[in-house]
Amino acid sequence: MFKGLLLDKADDGATKAAVTDIDEARLPEGEVLVDVACSTVNYKDALAITGKSPVVRKFPMVPGIDFAGTVAESTDARYQPGDAVLLNGWGVGETHWGGLAHKARVKADWLVPIPSDLDARQAMAIGTAGYTAMLCVMALQDRGLVPTSGPVLVTGANGGVGSIAIALLAKLGFEVHASTGRLAEAEHLRRLGAREIVDRSTLSEPGKPLQKERWAGAVDSVGSHTLANVCASLRYGGTVAACGLAQGLDLPASVAPFILRGVTLAGVDSVYAPQARRLVAWQRLANELPKDLLEANTETIGLDAVIALAPRLLAGQVRGRVVVDVG
Ligand code: NDP
Repeated sequence: MFKGLLLDKADDGATKAAVTDIDEARLPEGEVLVDVACSTVNYKDALAITGKSPVVRKFPMVPGIDFAGTVAESTDARYQPGDAVLLNGWGVGETHWGGLAHKARVKADWLVPIPSDLDARQAMAIGTAGYTAMLCVMALQDRGLVPTSGPVLVTGANGGVGSIAIALLAKLGFEVHASTGRLAEAEHLRRLGAREIVDRSTLSEPGKPLQKERWAGAVDSVGSHTLANVCASLRYGGTVAACGLAQGLDLPASVAPFILRGVTLAGVDSVYAPQARRLVAWQRLANELPKDLLEANTETIGLDAVIALAPRLLAGQVRGRVVVDVG
């Protein structure tokens, strides 16, 4: 038996969540059994645990879209007992039992070796949110963005994706502007590397199709009117890496920024990103993300505190990253 967070559907359709003892024989199939040390609470995990959105496709389900730990058993030659591994995405925590439990059994193809200069806790302080932030930075750089291009905006600045995107872009020498609804956290955002703080209310309402050219690039985890206004405010040839929907799934925009300013809307998906890109992203995170900022951006909780945290995260009341100490 091992301890884990289990989700089930009640008769009225509501999601029931409980920390409980689970029989190891119930774990899904996979070549590698992992002793999970740490997991995290991402936006998607909070949606799954609260049942606010149909993230979980089959019940019962152990949520947790990411985890880090040690290989306990493996029938795949690439992994041996004792290897330090992490996992993001691939439907884990949605269609395959995930990381918010002491044990996980997964496909070997889904695992990434933890880079040697990160431990399991640091890997999860980064987690899916931080790895997605790096994929967004890579998407901007792929399209030629360099620090001399001009300032870069990060929306959802106090969230997991936003906070790590700020630290990464600032370390690379970009002038980072941070859009937030929590102006009281401005000092934290400046410590991460933000040069200017933008009140998110100036971006979250319907705006003109073309606005003053402000930013050369942007990382957007918010969507909806905010993403439309960001597109309308990018400088000629600018790019926005769009990865999230914290404000909404809609995109009430016009084509004006694309056809008149050559703006690029670059979509970023972390769940099914190819392995080669994952390995680059994780090695870059290990090399480029300052460890002291990572620590200052992270809160650690136990498995028993996850259910209460989920609605607070969806309400935008959690700053930075939350690591769950599972072990
Ligand atoms: P968090 O909850 O940690 O951060 C979201 C942030 O968005 C909040 O902290 C808040 O920042 C801002 N925000 C919240 N509500 C609103 C609102 N109504 N209007 C405008 N801004 C708002 O989530 P994550 O950082 O983990 O994830 C962010 C988004 O990215 C989510 O939608 C998530 O699903 C998505 N995502 C997508 C991935 C992919 O593969 N494409 C991978 C990972 C995440 P502040 O208080 O500073 O304004």
